[in-house]
Amino acid sequence: MQLTATDTLRFLERVAAVIKEHRQELTELDAAIGDADHGTNLDRGFTAVMGKLSSTAEKDIGVILKTTGMTLISTVGGASGPLYGTAFMRAATLLAGFNEVSSTEIVLALEAALEGIKARGKSQEGEKTMIDAVAPGLRVLRAGLDRGEPFLAVMRRAVATTEEGMKATIPMKATKGRASYLGERSIGHQDPGATSAYYILRALLETMEEVAAAS
Ligand code: ADP
Ligand code: MG
Repeated sequence: MQLTATDTLRFLERVAAVIKEHRQELTELDAAIGDADHGTNLDRGFTAVMGKLSSTAEKDIGVILKTTGMTLISTVGGASGPLYGTAFMRAATLLAGFNEVSSTEIVLALEAALEGIKARGKSQEGEKTMIDAVAPGLRVLRAGLDRGEPFLAVMRRAVATTEEGMKATIPMKATKGRASYLGERSIGHQDPGATSAYYILRALLETMEEVAAAS
């Protein structure tokens, strides 16, 4: 599997579209355990990203991801802006100068993104955040890649695992972010950030499916 700079732009277009589509749902999830702005926050951020990316031509993957990260940090009020922003910035550093990436580099970039979220959020698995969706998915991805399995099949399993991780946040008690203020009352609600993280990784899978179908 190879993704080009154009594929990377298509991926981000998909992200912007899926976030817009689920904006209300993400905001409602955040209304239950936060401050009802997650969908609005991310929609504002990714809409701004689309604006920024359309105005500069001829970019490598590193520049595209860096622009994305910087725009999210500067336009998204709330925790998720710096967290997703840092994730894209870390991936950008790894892929600086690349016009095309292979499966190995895609996995390394996703792992770097997750490490960025953990570092920025001073958080880890089990705290009812986006990390609980991303981390188990990336373990599946890493294991499949290392075993040399067909990458698209591995990615499908990884995204299914991410969806399970998202649902597994429902019985968790939040110990990070705004939801942690609720303590025990955060139990029984799906984490909004875990939900947006699932949509973002699913958008990456769909981009790969599209690339595979065209080749
Ligand atoms: P805010 O909480 O500032 O209103 P958002 O509503 O946009 O920001 O995003 C909330 C989401 O951010 C949560 O659902 C959670 O997944 C994620 N989050 C919050 N704090 C952290 C953290 N320290 N580490 C990882 N993720 C976090
Ligand atoms: Mg919020």
